[in-house]
Amino acid sequence: MIIKNINLETVCGITSKLPDNSYPEIAFAGKSNVGKSSLINALMNRKSYARISATPGKTQTINFYNINDEMYLVDLPGYGYAKVSEQEKIRWGKLIERYLHGSKQLKAVFLLIDIRHDPSANDKMMYDWIVAQGFEPIIIATKLDKIKRSQVAKHLKAVKQGLGLIPGTKVIPFSSVTKQGRDEIWEFVETEYLG
Ligand code: GDP
Repeated sequence: MIIKNINLETVCGITSKLPDNSYPEIAFAGKSNVGKSSLINALMNRKSYARISATPGKTQTINFYNINDEMYLVDLPGYGYAKVSEQEKIRWGKLIERYLHGSKQLKAVFLLIDIRHDPSANDKMMYDWIVAQGFEPIIIATKLDKIKRSQVAKHLKAVKQGLGLIPGTKVIPFSSVTKQGRDEIWEFVETEYLG
């Protein structure tokens, strides 16, 4: 994808009306600190356009980035931050559910998992929940630069097993430091969901 222009067009909180967009949407989910903002910035060729959260887990909004007036990258609020209250968790769930159910343009959901660690109970819950909403999430294994090359296959296997992935699910290793995986993600999005 050649990025010509980007624009944070809509920020939706719990009480906001979700936008009725006319371009395809690709959404990104993941626990806070997994590297979601870094991924979205890398996809947009920016250093810090997407929020880098000062207080992780506090930003409960869905952010819609218009790319080239062609499509949207949709940043879903992160989960799994310990200091969030029960009430905030419920609000978070309702907001995401409303979006996954309600968007007419949502084409795919990418779920980010830190390649270093076995998926958490929250990750597994999120995966199962996205599947239950009728999507087959694509997995992005983040922070690839943090493990040795010889360990990659082992960690990818642990991610697949930990989430109990539907056979054939795509898993793309990614690093926002080296940008490895960036072109593969864009190629996949363009081939599968655009044009
Ligand atoms: P978010 O909360 O999911 O949006 O995560 P951020 O993108 O804000 O990243 C959380 C932390 O992980 C930051 O300190 C980033 O610099 C770091 N980080 C994110 N992606 C990578 C990566 O691919 N490699 C390394 N080494 N660090 C990363």
